[in-house]
Amino acid sequence: MTDVPFVDLAAAHAEVERQVRAGFDRVLATTAFVNGEDVESFEREYAHLCHAEHCVGVGNGTDALELAMRALGVGPGSEVILPANTFVATAEAVVRAGAMPVLVDVDDQRLLMDPARTADAVGRATGAIVPVHLYGRLAGVEDFLDFGPPVLEDAAQSQGAERDGTGLFGAIAATSFYPGKNLGAYGDGGAVVTDSDELARKVRLLRDHGSERKYHHEIVGFNSRLDTLQAVVLRAKLRRLAGWNEQRRTAAARYHELLADLPDVVLPPPAGEDHVWHLYVIRVPRRDEVAGRLGELGVRTGVHYPVPVHLQPAFRHLGHAPGDFPVAEAAAGEILSLPMFPQITEEQQLQVADALRKSLG
Ligand SMILES: *Cc1c(COP(=O)(O)O)cnc(C)c1O
Repeated sequence: MTDVPFVDLAAAHAEVERQVRAGFDRVLATTAFVNGEDVESFEREYAHLCHAEHCVGVGNGTDALELAMRALGVGPGSEVILPANTFVATAEAVVRAGAMPVLVDVDDQRLLMDPARTADAVGRATGAIVPVHLYGRLAGVEDFLDFGPPVLEDAAQSQGAERDGTGLFGAIAATSFYPGKNLGAYGDGGAVVTDSDELARKVRLLRDHGSERKYHHEIVGFNSRLDTLQAVVLRAKLRRLAGWNEQRRTAAARYHELLADLPDVVLPPPAGEDHVWHLYVIRVPRRDEVAGRLGELGVRTGVHYPVPVHLQPAFRHLGHAPGDFPVAEAAAGEILSLPMFPQITEEQQLQVADALRKSLG
């Protein structure tokens, strides 16, 4: 039996190869490598997908978060609230904007930032609240809006997720087009999405040396633009995203059935259109042993994430200790991400289920 990969980027590429090659030829012919026509077209198309007014392409997801924070006025003296269980970039962006991360524990079911625990973290210095749509599941932004400070969504794992006919719920959202995301480029890329003309204008200034007009610089900015070649890839893949997300939902439902009777395995709570299954994360006791045995049986898995933000050496300055965020800490020892990608076959999923059954024994 052949190994089951964790993700299969080659399978995704095969579906868009013709369009991508034709698009690359078009760009090579014009040599408009930065801010070419495809970037503008992609921004329009991605804004449409999110049911938002504006999309501003940037260099990567971490920059998208930082620039969105800066556009909101977050800087030295501000605090930004985010979950303890997220990819480190969410916290990194806060520090890079000159502000202080304030961490909140997650809820035990969805492993998303817990609104009930957020109230205590909100204060006069709060510049933004950043729920993370972790694993592709929408974090319920409406629960955070009432606290007052602007909500910036970390939507790096949730491209295409919708609820009540929209994909944008806070003041602004940041996403990443890192190759393995649901909508992945062939290198780095990211975007900021908002309905606000003012916030969009600020991010546009920040991404391109503080300039709207060439060689006229209103503010000190950054160089964080989306390459035209990446926009070509993203446009080709964007047309398939809804279908791919539906295939991920089908695969998630199949895992639910296949794994339902496994003792000691906790499955992720089911969901509808508000979940695009970037990752299918189960919880198992003795996770590292189980993952090791799965690997021996040819099933590649991941852990998202093994160390919560507050226990990372990089964030020692926040002064946290083990025990501060018990739900995130307990989850970090048990979570296991199974192979998940749109093209995963029933046969591959049967192989995963079979290997997992053997690995638990
Ligand atoms: C991938 C990711 C990011 C960062 O994106 P990059 O493009 O790698 O900078 C931020 N937050 C979350 C939750 C992510 O998964």
